[in-house]
Formats: sequence, structure tokens, C-alpha cells
Amino acid sequence: MDEQLDRIPCGFFVLNEDFEIIDMNQTLRNILKSGSETVHFQDLLTLPSRIYFQTYFLPAISVHKQVREMYLNFKLDNQSLPVLVNVNERDGLYEGIIVKIKTRDEYETQMLTAKKNAERVQKETDLANDKLQALLHNVESKQLELQAKQRELEELNSELQILAAHDELTGLCNRRVFRKQLAEQVDYARENSSSPFSLAILDIDHFKKVNDIYGHAVGDQVLIELARKMELIISEPHLLARIGGEEFAIIFHEKDSAKVTNLTEELRLFVASSKWESIAVTISVGVTQFRVEDTANSLFTRADDALYESKRNGRNIVTII
Ligand code: GH3
Ligand code: MG
Ligand code: MG
Repeated sequence: MDEQLDRIPCGFFVLNEDFEIIDMNQTLRNILKSGSETVHFQDLLTLPSRIYFQTYFLPAISVHKQVREMYLNFKLDNQSLPVLVNVNERDGLYEGIIVKIKTRDEYETQMLTAKKNAERVQKETDLANDKLQALLHNVESKQLELQAKQRELEELNSELQILAAHDELTGLCNRRVFRKQLAEQVDYARENSSSPFSLAILDIDHFKKVNDIYGHAVGDQVLIELARKMELIISEPHLLARIGGEEFAIIFHEKDSAKVTNLTEELRLFVASSKWESIAVTISVGVTQFRVEDTANSLFTRADDALYESKRNGRNIVTII
């Protein structure tokens, strides 16, 4: 037999017209553990396979001159060996190959197991992905929720800060902020004697009459309008605050007392001479400059005394002490 045929990884055999094996390659010889004696093909088979051989193999080969992928069992010692057989007729002889089905079965089982494993892994991956997606979605919406809450809180906080620092009616800084800034400014000026500043207290003249004659609501309008007018003259770095009902204060961050006097006079005149949408009013003002021995209280009292002076001297006046 051809040396290559001898070594191919499947059994090869040649049957004569009586279906006796007249030749086989080494692979088949190894499978059958047989020598070179001539045997009938069916003698190699188990009993059921012999019946199968008689019933299907022989009719197929006589009609079609070939047998395609027929499963048969070889009888080997005390066990049987399942094989797949292909046979073709050539020149009155029959050439065939056999493949051990066990090998093929194992391969198919392995393939099947691998496929099942791949499917299981795919399923588990899909499941894990779904869970991850859901988790990410959850985290994202929680983050958005948190951001929205944080924004709300920040807005609320800045609203609160505005509310805490400003007068509700006029929107000017309130008494609390004024007191704090005055104390800070006094401390600073005491440590830096080169930084004097001035304080003014302002009070609407005869404001009770406005309320009495026109009502409280009109009184409120006057307060708001006055605040807007004063803001036109007094701006940063000076601090303008509403410190009482119809009382206001200005911390002038200005060393030059002449400039403070001019600015205060300009303010009084502007309030007295400008057009009013509600009821025209005038203001009286008391102004004083910080002195090294001052506390916030002594400074405030002196400014208040100056204001009282303006009232006493006929109102719509600026008094400087
Ligand atoms: P003077 O020139 O001496 O300051 O006279 P006045 O009438 O302004 O002084 P008085 O202190 O007697 O009156 C202040 C009035 O301001 C009394 C009060 O009804 C009024 N008032 C205080 N706060 C408010 C407010 O928020 N709104 C209104 N509409 N009126 C207020
Ligand atoms: Mg008053
Ligand atoms: Mg008044």
C-alpha cells in the first residue's frame, strides 16, 4: 500500500467482489489490531451491524455503487467500536474509509459544550451589562437629583443671605449690616489713625404727617422712592442703610471731610428739589467724622446729636459736628 495512504488519519480498505478485505492501511490495521489475513468485512462487525450490513450496505452498494456515511460497529475483543463508513466501487473492487465516531462524537460534544458555555457566558455578560446600565442610569439620575437639590440650596442660601442683609421694604442694607460695618470700621480706624471716616444719620421731616394724611401705604411708597433717590447720589464704597422706620445712615469711606460735607449737602438738596412720584419730602441730616477716642456708640450718638440740631434749627438742613 502507498506509504501515504498507510499513514492517513483514517482507516482505508479495499474489498473484493465478495466483500472480503483484500487490503487495508496501517491505520485500520492498528484500529482492528489485525494482521494481513483476508476476512469478510461483515465478520469484523457486531451482530446488529452485520444485520444492518446485510439490510442496507449491500443493497446500497449494488444499486448506487457507493455507501455514504453509514454508521456501523466493529467488534473488537469484548467491546464494539462505532465507526462511520464511506465506500466507492472502483473497477469491480470496493474502496472504503472508516472514521472512528468516538473521536467525532468527542469533537462534537466539545463543540456543543463550548457553544453552550459561550451562550451561557454571553447571557451572563448581557445580564451583567443590563445591571450595569440600570446602575449607571440610577447613579446618573441620583447625581442630577443631587445637583438640582444643591442648586436649590445655593439659590435658597443666597436668597437667605440677601434677606438677612437687606431691608425688606426698600432693599437697602439693614440695621444689622450697618451696625456690623460701623463696628469694623471703628476698629480699623482706631488701628490706622490715617484712615478717618464719617458717619451721617438722616431722618425724614414730618413723616408722621404723610402717614396721617395720605395713609401708611403712601408712606411706604415715599420710603422706597427716597431710597432710590439716595442711591443715585450715594454709591460704593459708601454704605447706605435703613436703620429705623424713616431713619437712614451713611458710612462715608472718605478721609476728606470737605468732600463728605459736599456730598451730604448734594444729597439733601437733591431730595428736596427733585420731582416725586408720590409725596415730596425733605430730610434732615447729622454728620460727624471719626475721632481716635470714639467707639461705635459715641460716634453714633454724636451724629444723632447733629441730626437733632438740624431738626431744632428748622429741618431740611445738614449739621456737621
Ligand atoms: P420729625 O421731622 O421730627 O422727624 O417728624 P416725624 O413726623 O418724621 O417724626 P416721628 O418720629 O414722630 O414720626 C415718624 C413716623 O414714621 C412715625 C411712623 O408712623 C412712621 N413710620 C415709621 N416706619 C414706617 C414705615 O415703615 N412705613 C410707614 N409708612 N411709616 C413709618
Ligand atoms: Mg424719626
Ligand atoms: Mg422724622
